[in-house]
Amino acid sequence: MKTSFKIGTVSGIPIKLHISLIIIVGFIAWSVGSNLFQLAEFMGVAPPPVSPGFESYVLGAIVAIGLFASVLAHELGHSIVAQREGLEIEEITLWIFGGVSNLEEMPREPGREIKISVVGPGISLILGGVLYAASSYTASDTIVFLSIYLGFINLFLAGFNLLPAFPMDGGRILRAIFATRMSYAKATSRAAGIGKGFAVLMGIFGIFFNPFLIVIAVFIYFAASAEAQNVSVRFVLEKLDVEDIMSKKMCTVSPSTTARDLLDKIVKLQHTGFPVVYRGGLVGIVTMADLKKIPKSALDQSRVADIMTREVTTVKPGEDVSDVWNRMLQDNVGRFPVVSDGELVGIVTRSDVMHAYNILSELGELDSGHM
Ligand SMILES: [Zn+2]
Repeated sequence: MKTSFKIGTVSGIPIKLHISLIIIVGFIAWSVGSNLFQLAEFMGVAPPPVSPGFESYVLGAIVAIGLFASVLAHELGHSIVAQREGLEIEEITLWIFGGVSNLEEMPREPGREIKISVVGPGISLILGGVLYAASSYTASDTIVFLSIYLGFINLFLAGFNLLPAFPMDGGRILRAIFATRMSYAKATSRAAGIGKGFAVLMGIFGIFFNPFLIVIAVFIYFAASAEAQNVSVRFVLEKLDVEDIMSKKMCTVSPSTTARDLLDKIVKLQHTGFPVVYRGGLVGIVTMADLKKIPKSALDQSRVADIMTREVTTVKPGEDVSDVWNRMLQDNVGRFPVVSDGELVGIVTRSDVMHAYNILSELGELDSGHM
C-alpha cells in the first residue's frame, strides 16, 4: 500500500505527506476547535470570533496545517544546509510525529554537523519570534490567536529539538562539540550517555506529571542507544573489506538440483541459503524461505530453478564491509554473493559480519586508545 504522497518539490527535494497525518490533523482540528476559549484564555488573548462547530474546527484545521508547515520549514532548513554541504537528500516526509529528512550519513566534521543541526531550531526560533511580533500589528482577533498559537508552537519546536539527546538536534550538536576534543566514536558514546540520562530523568518526571513524557523518554532512550551502537559498528566495520570476512569455501547448488536435495543440504550443512551456479556463472540464490513456498509433497518434483531468486544483488571483494552491512539491513537480505570479474568468489552473510564485529570490538576494547 502506498503510505505517503508527494505534494511538491523544494530545491530538488521531494516533499511527502504520510497518511498518518490525516489522523493527527483531524485530531488537532478537533481538539483546538473545541477548546478555543480555554486556549485563548491560557494565551492571554481575546477568543477568536468564530461560532462553535464547523467554523471553530476550520480554525483548528488551520492551526494543524500551520503546525506541519512549521515542521516542514524546520526540516527544510536542515535539508538545504545539508545539500549545500554536499549531502544527498532523498526526501522529506511529514508524518504523525513531525518531519523526517532522509539524508545520507551526517558528516563527521564537527563544524559541518553543527551547521546542519543548528539551522532547524534556528528557523523555528526565528519563525516563532516573527509570528509573536506579527500579532501586535493586526487588529483581527483571529489572526492574533493564530500567530500567537503558531508562534508558541515554533518556539516549542526549537526548544524540544535542542534537547541534548539523539535523535534531537541538540544531541547532534552536543556530539559535534565533543568531537572537537575527542574521536567521533567516543564523542557519540558520551553524547548518547547524556541523552540516556536525560531520558531517564524525563521518564521519572513523566511518572509524576504527564505519562506522555514517559513515551517520549523511552523513544529517546532507545534512539540514543541505537545511534551509539550504529556509530561503533560503522567504525569497526569500515576497517574491513568484504574479502577479509567472506567465506571462500562455499557450497553451491545447480538450477537442476531438486528441492528435496536442497533441503538435505540445508539440514546437513546448516546453511540457510546457497548461490545457484550454472556453468561457472552465478544465476541466482536460493534460501530456506524459497523452499517454504512449496508444499512438502512437491519436494521431489520441484527444482531449484523453480523457486530461486534470479535477480541477485552482488558485492565486490574490495567493498567496504560497513556499506555492505547497511545494504543488508536496508534491503533486508541475509547474504550477498561476492563476484569478481563475473566469477563467484565467495559469499558474505550477516553472521560473517557479526562474527567479525564481535572479534574486532573485543580487540578494540583491549587497545581502547585506538577507538
Ligand atoms: Zn531538527
